[in-house]
Amino acid sequence: MSSLYDTLGVSKTASQDEVKKAYRKLAREHHPDRNPGDTAAEERFKEVQHAYDVLGDEEKRKEYDRFGSQNGRAGAGPQNVNVDFGDFNVGDLGDLFGGLFGGGGGRTQQRTRRQPVRGADVEAQVRLSFEDSLQGAEAKVPVELTVACHVCGGTGAEPGTAPVICPECNGRGVKSESQGLFALSQPCPRCRGNGTVIEQPCKHCRGTGRERRIKTYTVKIKPGVKDGTRIRMKGKGEAGENGGPAGDLVVLVHVAKSAVYERRGDDLVVNAPVSFATAALGGSVEVPTPQGTVSLKIPSGSEDGKLIRIKGRGAPRINGGGKGDVLARVRIRVPKRVNKKERELLEQLQKVTG
Ligand SMILES: [Zn+2]
Ligand SMILES: [Zn+2]
Repeated sequence: MSSLYDTLGVSKTASQDEVKKAYRKLAREHHPDRNPGDTAAEERFKEVQHAYDVLGDEEKRKEYDRFGSQNGRAGAGPQNVNVDFGDFNVGDLGDLFGGLFGGGGGRTQQRTRRQPVRGADVEAQVRLSFEDSLQGAEAKVPVELTVACHVCGGTGAEPGTAPVICPECNGRGVKSESQGLFALSQPCPRCRGNGTVIEQPCKHCRGTGRERRIKTYTVKIKPGVKDGTRIRMKGKGEAGENGGPAGDLVVLVHVAKSAVYERRGDDLVVNAPVSFATAALGGSVEVPTPQGTVSLKIPSGSEDGKLIRIKGRGAPRINGGGKGDVLARVRIRVPKRVNKKERELLEQLQKVTG
């Protein structure tokens, strides 16, 4: 049986600092996570742990020095020293490869910080009447979002407690798995790369640090908005992760169909019913526009379907200002029934035109 000093591979006169260094190195090498299924390594790990429990504590070390080990052997036997050196050599290789491949074996503190992730975009919908689409509107848009838990402030830890260093990876966030001489490192499964774990999860969010909440945003909709327009509100979407930016809120605007107008770009087409006589001889009719009815001059000889432009009475232009036009579409009304007088006149007309 070797002494506790042998176990750590340090001399009896080693400083506390040297003891600590030796322990850290051996603990890493023989850590069960790094040597899965290797019971010898596990045994060795326990020995190392035990040795450090005593030698790492100045009081206990003094006592140990005074009374020796339970086995009565406090000196370092040459054979044991050799065995220890053998272990060291393997360990140094492990460190070397670990360092080369970014494994957890090196002296440098390695910690894979999780990448910042931009939050997801969220889509919401707004329905407007045709009239509101021309005037513009301010719509309240309720959006269900994942936000930082209001109880724990997003830490996931029960108020009054704090996350602790992950015992699995000692806060490094990575775990190394040795494959022969190579050490492959991957994010620690216990803390998922955070380096910290939550021992008392927040009851409200069950430790996730997040909760679903409905937030209501006010969306300004410009006059003249078209059906199917998407309004992007930067940073109003889901929160980002690991310091990433928030996503956007995308508001899809639905505009109801109008019973009167048909939208063509920024122009509004409206039907203007005209009698046969007016279409033939010319005259004027009342035509609705969004700003009120106007009296429209019908030129003589207007055919059915003719479009007459009423400037600047259409939908507001979203870009560039001004307004589109109203296009009055001549619709020649053919009477379904005629009275006696009309019949006489139409019969005369028929004779004349043959
Ligand atoms: Zn919480
Ligand atoms: Zn961990």
